[in-house]
Amino acid sequence: MGNHHLARAIAYAACGETVRQLRYKTQWYGSALITADRWYPSTKRCSRCGDVKDVIPLGERVFNCEVCGLVADRDLNAARNLAEWPGVARTLETPVEGGVQSTAKAADSASR
Ligand SMILES: [Zn+2]
Repeated sequence: MGNHHLARAIAYAACGETVRQLRYKTQWYGSALITADRWYPSTKRCSRCGDVKDVIPLGERVFNCEVCGLVADRDLNAARNLAEWPGVARTLETPVEGGVQSTAKAADSASR
């Protein structure tokens, strides 16, 4: 097994551990963990016009939209797209019991 296979396996395991920790912590604080579909093109989608690129190389750190002219940091563009993920929008508009808004209350009572 080459080093790149080992590196990929370690990265995959680290990602799984991060998800496990997020599930544990959100349960602990009574929050909601919302995950986007793994194929949602958060990086390749323009957060302004919605155009989706075929590919964006990992080394390309600035998102340039040929359709509307948006120029934005790659991660910021992806974050804006993820903020529009339907599960996030629904939670912010109508939080479920024990959802996002109860997090502050749980943190307050835990610190007293
Ligand atoms: Zn665009």
